[in-house]
Amino acid sequence: MERTLLNLSPSSASDFKSCPLKFKFRSIDRLPEPTSTAAARGSLVHAVLERLFAEAPEARTPGRADDLLVALWNEVRNEPEVRPSDLVEDDEQAWLAESKTLLGNYFKIEDPSALTASRLEWWVEYELADLYLRGVVDRVEEHPDGSWVLTDYKTGRVPAEMRETNAFFGLRFYALVCWRAFGVMPKAIRLVYLTDPSVLTLTPHERMLTAFEKQMLALGKAIRRANERDDWRPSPSPLCMYCSFQDLCPAWSAPAAPPEAGAGCGPPQE
Ligand code: SF4
Repeated sequence: MERTLLNLSPSSASDFKSCPLKFKFRSIDRLPEPTSTAAARGSLVHAVLERLFAEAPEARTPGRADDLLVALWNEVRNEPEVRPSDLVEDDEQAWLAESKTLLGNYFKIEDPSALTASRLEWWVEYELADLYLRGVVDRVEEHPDGSWVLTDYKTGRVPAEMRETNAFFGLRFYALVCWRAFGVMPKAIRLVYLTDPSVLTLTPHERMLTAFEKQMLALGKAIRRANERDDWRPSPSPLCMYCSFQDLCPAWSAPAAPPEAGAGCGPPQE
C-alpha cells in the first residue's frame, strides 16, 4: 500500500471493519475468490434492473424483466468469472427461477414505469484527505426541486432492527461522497430489499454525514497503521461461514451450529 491515497469503497471499508485479515487478503493481496451463487444472483438481478430502466417507461414490465434476465444470463453463463463455481447445470434453472422471484418482488415494491432514474450504476468518487472514496450507486433520482434520492438494491434478507444502521453503511458512504463531491445532500437514501420485498429509508443530515466522515478518516488511519505494522488481525464472527479465505486463516474453525436464523447475517450479496 503506497503512502499516497488509500482506496476505499463501501465493501472494502466494511471488510476492514469486520475483519482486518479479510481486508488484507481481498484488497492488498488481491487473492482470487470463487463466485458464489448468491453473489452471482445479486449481480445478475442488478444488471437486469439497470437494463430495465434503459427501456421506455411503458416497457418496464415484469415480462420484460424476465426476458432480460434470460437474455443477460445467456450472454454470460459460460464466463468463468461470472458463473458460480458450484452451480451445476442441473441446478441452473432453479437458480434462475430464484432470480426471477426477486424480480417479481421488485414489482411489488416499485412501479418502474412511474420513476425517472437520472443515473444508473453511477460511479462516484471523492478525495477525503489521504483517502480516495469511490464506488457505484445503483440508482439516483434527481427531482425537479434539485433534490437527490439514492437507491441501493439488496438481494439478501432485511436486517434485524439492531443491524439497520450497519445496513445503511454503503449508502451513507455514497451520501457523503455526493455531498462533498457535488455539494448535494441527498434528500433520502433507500435500501430496496428484494427477498422480503420492503424498503428502508433514511434521511441524511449534516451531523450524520460529518460523523460518518470522521469514521472514514479514523478507519483510514487504522488501515495505514495495520499496514505499517503488518498487523492484520483476524476477527472471527458468524460472517466467517461465508469467507473465501478460511483455509488461509489461523482463526477459522467451523462453528458447531449455523448463525441464528433472522439475525441478519447471511452470505454476502449485492
Ligand atoms: S475466516 Fe473469519 S477471521 Fe478468518 S479471515 Fe475470514 S472473516 Fe476473518
